[in-house]
Amino acid sequence: MLIVMRQDASAEQINEVVKVVTSKGCQARSIPGGDRVSIAVLFNKGPLEDAWFSDLPGVQQTIAVTRPYKLVSRETKPSGTEIRVKNVTIGSGRLTIMAGPCAVESERQAMTIAEQVKKAGGDMFRGGAFKPRTSPYSFQGLGEEGLKILAKVRETFDLPVVTEVMDLACFDLVEAYADIVQIGTRNMQNFSLLRRAGQAKKPVFLKRGMSATVDEWLMAAEYIMAEGNPDIILCERGVRTFVRHSRNTLDLSAVPVVQRESHLPVMVDPSHAAGFRDQVMPLARAAVAAGAHGIMVEVHHDPANACSDGAQSLYPAQFASLCRQVRDIEQLIENSVES
Ligand code: PEP
Ligand code: MN
Repeated sequence: MLIVMRQDASAEQINEVVKVVTSKGCQARSIPGGDRVSIAVLFNKGPLEDAWFSDLPGVQQTIAVTRPYKLVSRETKPSGTEIRVKNVTIGSGRLTIMAGPCAVESERQAMTIAEQVKKAGGDMFRGGAFKPRTSPYSFQGLGEEGLKILAKVRETFDLPVVTEVMDLACFDLVEAYADIVQIGTRNMQNFSLLRRAGQAKKPVFLKRGMSATVDEWLMAAEYIMAEGNPDIILCERGVRTFVRHSRNTLDLSAVPVVQRESHLPVMVDPSHAAGFRDQVMPLARAAVAAGAHGIMVEVHHDPANACSDGAQSLYPAQFASLCRQVRDIEQLIENSVES
C-alpha cells in the first residue's frame, strides 16, 4: 500500500503515520516525490486495512499497490526516475549512450577506445575489469589494475565509467572506482549481491537475466531498492532462445512493458543480444525507436584481437555512425506530433 500525504502535511503528521505503520508490524519507506511525501508500506504479512491509515491527519489518500514489486512499481511512483551521474542524466528524455570494450585489456587499449567513444558523442565509458567468463581458461579481466585504468579514462576524457561487479568479494573495490556498478545477466538473481548493491552509494546497472521474466527482473530491482538504493538502471540484453543466428534474442517488447510497470529507466544492450557485429546497428536503432532511455554498445579498435566479445564489437567508425543514426531517430521521435 502507498500512503500519499497532503502537500501541507507536517513532519509530526508524517511521523505519526510511520508510527502507525510500524505498530501494524510493517515497515514504512518514504518515497521521494515532487511536491508531497508518500509512504510505502512494506513487509505486511496479511492484508492491509485502508481505514488504519486513511483517516490519520495529513493523509490525502491510500493506494493499493497491486504488483509484487512495490518500490520499483509505477503504481508507487508515477513519474519516471532520473539518475544523475556527473554531467549525464539517465531517464531525462535525452538518450544515454554508454560504450567501450567488453573488457579493459590495457591502458593503451582503453585510452584508444575511450578517445573514439568521446569523439563520437558517447556519454559514458563502459569496460569490464572483473569478467564473468563461461570458461575458466578465458581472460578473466585485469581486476584492480583495470579499475585504475578506468579511473584514468574518467579523468582524461571526462566520461563517467561503468564496470561490472562479479561477487561480494570485489564489491567494495568496484564501488570505490565506478560511477555506476553493473550487475550482469548471470548475477541478476544473486540475492546477496543484490542486497549489497542496495547498500551501495553508486547507481546500479541491472542487466536482465538471460532467462528471466520481466517480473523476476523487476523483483531483482526491488531487492536493491528495498535496501535503500533508489538509483537503478535496467538493461535489456536479450534472452536465451533456440535460434542460432544470434547469440540471444533481443526482447524489445520488454522496453514498453518495463516502462508501463516501473518508474526506473530502461536501457538496451544490442551487443550481447546480437553476438555479431552486423546485427548491432539495426538492433540499436530499433531499441531507440522503441523508446529505450539509452543503449550500451561494445566498441573495440582491434576486435580481431580482443580478449573477449570481439565478434560483436563495433569498429570506432561504425560506432560513430551508430551515434549519428540513433541521435537522428531520437530527434525524429522528439519532433513527432504523436509523441
Ligand atoms: C557485459 O556487459 O560485458 C556482459 C558480460 O553482459 P551480460 O551480463 O549481459 O552477458
Ligand atoms: Mn561483453
